Amino acid sequence: MDQSAAPKVSFVSLGCPKALVDSERIITRLRAEGYELARKHDGADLVIVNTCGFLDSAKQESLGAIGEAMAENGKVIVTGCMGAEPEQIEKAYPNVLSITGPQQYESVLEAVHRAVPPTHNPHLDLLPPQGIKLTPRHYAYLKISEGCNNRCTFCIIPKLRGDLVSRQANDVLREAERLVAAGVKELLVVSQDTSAYGIDLKYATSPWKDREVRARFYDLARELGELGAWVRLQYVYPYPHVDEVIGLMSEGKVLPYLDIPFQHASPDVLKQMRRPAAQDKTLARIKSWREQCPDLTLRSTFIVGFPGETDSDFQYLLDWLDEAQIDRLGCFKYEPVAGATSNGLEGTVPEEIKTARWNALMARQKRISAQRLKRKVGTRQQVIIDEVGPSVAKGRSKADAPQIDGSVYVASRRPLKVGEIVTAKIERADEYDLHGTVAGF
Ligand code: SF4
Repeated sequence: MDQSAAPKVSFVSLGCPKALVDSERIITRLRAEGYELARKHDGADLVIVNTCGFLDSAKQESLGAIGEAMAENGKVIVTGCMGAEPEQIEKAYPNVLSITGPQQYESVLEAVHRAVPPTHNPHLDLLPPQGIKLTPRHYAYLKISEGCNNRCTFCIIPKLRGDLVSRQANDVLREAERLVAAGVKELLVVSQDTSAYGIDLKYATSPWKDREVRARFYDLARELGELGAWVRLQYVYPYPHVDEVIGLMSEGKVLPYLDIPFQHASPDVLKQMRRPAAQDKTLARIKSWREQCPDLTLRSTFIVGFPGETDSDFQYLLDWLDEAQIDRLGCFKYEPVAGATSNGLEGTVPEEIKTARWNALMARQKRISAQRLKRKVGTRQQVIIDEVGPSVAKGRSKADAPQIDGSVYVASRRPLKVGEIVTAKIERADEYDLHGTVAGF
């Protein structure tokens, strides 16, 4: 397999709606990890067959599907109801890679990782580095498009994955609805450029329930907001139409949270980076978003030490941060990536300056984060529980995305369950986390 290409998985889903939920769950996860779905077994890196074992005829159909996959591809993972009694499958096809029963999607994903490891590349991945570990069942990443139409000079995604290809709105919504039906409480909407969703489809409509839904960022966010789960929007660029979505946030339809990878603030650096929406007056936009939705949490990532970044560019970024008051921030030191256009730019920044800038930026942010979190002391926040302990559970408020943001530690008299959403009274804040007590269920 070409190491730069996304691994391709062919999927056969047989059986009832319950089996389909497992299939959706596996596909959602694979998509988010950077795997692509193949239309045919032939040419795919492996095949997953989700079987049905309800009737003899269903078993025969399942065995037939496994046989076809073995003949056309040879690398086959079997899951689903028939996998609960693996003997028949093992007898007929001793070389299948793994066999698991229904609802064991974690084992299926482990088998996929073993057979065709994800092309884990920090320059390509949408999930945080820890994200390749299995996502708990109470949240799921929902990938709405592939590829990207931008050409940021430090990025090789468009070269590897091509231009933007969006999924039809009803396809995304169907998947989201099934995930929610299967117990998912929080949907994390991801793509390379979430707010560009649907541009390639010319915002085509598709039928959903009793209506037509446009493949457009706002329309999709609105419909996702009707499903009864938390909806978190990640990798959003501040195009003008993002303003409309702030209205959905103040109405409580989607979480008041925006993850916008600004990458820098200095106009000169942004120009060299060729960032989308770089010219928009972002500070003024942020101000008006916060006026409209005071609870809005902003998360962003920045690169320091980009070729040509001067002391005054960096100072501009620090001043900008003081104004913008970004709640959550990740920072990377610029590194050349093989094949990126920025490799040809002049003005390499020495490593020690990159490190000094990184330290200065993180110190500034620590202060901002602490101040912003302090304002939450005394408030009540809804918290989704990620991990439970004997008397304190670890969860996240609406302001915290899993694995990348802070946590809320909640004390409770009764044991809490993973995936449960409780109301907590916030008693204390430190630099990145909050602490409180359960005040309601
Ligand atoms: S927006 Fe820029 S950084 Fe993001 S995927 Fe597209 S080209 Fe890469």
